Amino acid sequence: MNGESASVVIIGGGAMGTSTAHHLAELGVTDVVLCERNTLGSGSTSKAAGGIRAQFTDELNIRIALLSLVEFRNFKERFGVDIDFREVGYLFLLDSDEDVQRFSQAVALQGSLGVLSTELTLDEVLELVPQLETEGLRGATYCPRDGHATPEAVVRGYAAAAAEKGVRIHQGVEVTRILVLGNKILGVETSAGRIKTDTVVCTAGVGSREVAALVGVDLPVIGEPRWMHYTPESGSLPEKLPLTIDFSSGFYFHREGPGLVFGGREPTIEGVATHATRRLPLLVDLPIQSSWWGYYEMSPDHNALVGEAADPSRFLYATGFSGHGFQQCPAVGEYLAERIVGIIPTLNLSAFSADRFARGESREEQFVI
Ligand SMILES: Cc1cc2nc3c(=O)[nH]c(=O)nc-3n(C[C@H](O)[C@H](O)[C@H](O)COP(=O)(O)OP(=O)(O)OC[C@H]3O[C@@H](n4cnc5c(N)ncnc54)[C@H](O)[C@@H]3O)c2cc1C
Repeated sequence: MNGESASVVIIGGGAMGTSTAHHLAELGVTDVVLCERNTLGSGSTSKAAGGIRAQFTDELNIRIALLSLVEFRNFKERFGVDIDFREVGYLFLLDSDEDVQRFSQAVALQGSLGVLSTELTLDEVLELVPQLETEGLRGATYCPRDGHATPEAVVRGYAAAAAEKGVRIHQGVEVTRILVLGNKILGVETSAGRIKTDTVVCTAGVGSREVAALVGVDLPVIGEPRWMHYTPESGSLPEKLPLTIDFSSGFYFHREGPGLVFGGREPTIEGVATHATRRLPLLVDLPIQSSWWGYYEMSPDHNALVGEAADPSRFLYATGFSGHGFQQCPAVGEYLAERIVGIIPTLNLSAFSADRFARGESREEQFVI
């Protein structure tokens, strides 16, 4: 590998890095090296719940979802990999009048962009999930076109498609330095030698802050550990179960094979259990088979950091997804590839550039779990 050169080096082989690699190859840029310090998908991507939704407050996130959903729906046909995309809907449970009002406004915005989200009565909630305890709830919203898929399978599909077109994927290779002269990138130093390049894409997840610091760029990302739990049983819950979120507590669950996965904001199962068993009492009787954790890559306004640094030039980045990075990988990867090639982007994400904070233009996404 030492002495290798590439038109583009991608740092990080999660959902974002592999999507970017695929979209570059689609645009004819195949002289690309992707470096992943562990194994593909081993970062936050493999820890994710796999949720995919268009129910956001920021118009850009809704547009990203609409674009990404098309790719997820057609993934098997296009990439030959079954990502187990289940269009079961997302159900948000709301226990305060303020939240009902915020979600009602968001449903109106989503509807204006073509999203089929709607407000539900508590009787309608119970038609979807009869086993819920609705005490204390003030309302709910639901979108039938939301759902969930398997993140590792998405990574596999993108990586295989990119590799088939000539993208070189190096696993177990860490980027340790980025070589810069003036404001130009000359190459990267890795644990396996040097690669000459003038373009670097940082999709290093929660490690993006350190990677960006190698070139003096500040990406304000903080890792927040989040736990998930798996039970191999699902009690009497319906087969078609929406990804259900108790918004104020952050407790959520969805079907996974014959059982359920669930999570929340608390670091211990006991902490999550308080909210979980109140809203879904049948959980008390289900065995926990496994638990795991990964990082949410939090940004200051809970929106993604996506763009290109001013100095050095040709340093692009995508991180800070604050809990919704898996589902945004199709649209964000496509945007990065289009920026690199220099064509008009399908969806302009320039408002997510990290220098928005210095410009006093931060934009908060409110529906973060
Ligand atoms: C419990 C949990 C539940 C979640 N649920 C959802 C959900 O339902 N829906 C959703 O959309 N999102 C969800 N997320 C968030 C989602 O997982 C992330 O936003 C997304 O996976 C980020 O993808 P990524 O490719 O940017 O980062 P990662 O998957 O973290 O990939 C970055 C990669 O970069 C590599 N790397 C870092 N530094 C270097 C270096 N110097 N050299 C080489 N390689 C390097 C790492 O090893 C890693 O593999 C969840 C996250 C967690 C933890």
